[in-house]
Amino acid sequence: MLFLRHYENWHTRMRIDILTVVPELLESPLNHSIVKRAKEAGLVEIIIHDIRDYGKGNYRHVDDYSFGGDAGMVLMVEPIFNLINDLKAERDYDEIIYMSPDGETFNQKEANRLSCLQNIIILCGHYKGVDQRVRDHIITKEISIGDFVLSGGEIPAAMICDAVTRLIPGAISDEQSALTDCFQDNLLAPPVYTRPAEFNGWKVPEILLSGNHAAIRDWMEEQALERTGRLRPDLLEKI
Ligand code: SAH
Repeated sequence: MLFLRHYENWHTRMRIDILTVVPELLESPLNHSIVKRAKEAGLVEIIIHDIRDYGKGNYRHVDDYSFGGDAGMVLMVEPIFNLINDLKAERDYDEIIYMSPDGETFNQKEANRLSCLQNIIILCGHYKGVDQRVRDHIITKEISIGDFVLSGGEIPAAMICDAVTRLIPGAISDEQSALTDCFQDNLLAPPVYTRPAEFNGWKVPEILLSGNHAAIRDWMEEQALERTGRLRPDLLEKI
């Protein structure tokens, strides 16, 4: 079901623009493995923008002290406003996201939703965050990756890109594989095994070697249910 819905909503190529003051932080996570291959296959375009290119003066100033005297620097509204305006002049954006510890907690459902969009912007904060007026007037969605505070929004943004990209049809050789991962349909994934069938006296469950596909599927479903009930009973209530 999810699989079909996914295809119906599928556009040509997803575009993700990431805005940051530390572009270097995004280099490695977005240039290897599945994300790299998806980019090369033309399934997703991820463009990193250095907010400093819109900074003020010779020093490409992008931050300033906060009014009220709290310690720490705040990213200024103007460079972000100008950068986003330039992007919006070229295309429509479905969502302008700010990564923030007080945003809505990211989950697989949100990853699915985002993967069906065409163009999104992800703004990474740094230091004490961004001027509140950016959040009030420009941002359309605020996402957190959990109840802890990082130094910047870059790692959270890379996480979103990874979670979203692997859901795009074609990104993984067998799309079905992304759809049987944890949290799709609110179930944890069943355990997986590979060769050898026995190591150190530890055996792979007999059924997996039986070649009986229907029985294996039933076993996997049972395992997924059992695991979810044991480790995440809260998820079962949502089914
Ligand atoms: N003063 C802010 C924290 C700023 S941390 C506060 O207390 O809420 C600097 C930046 O890191 C933030 O602007 C945000 O973009 C990013 N960040 C930190 N923790 C995050 C989290 N859990 N989820 C998403 N982004 C986070």
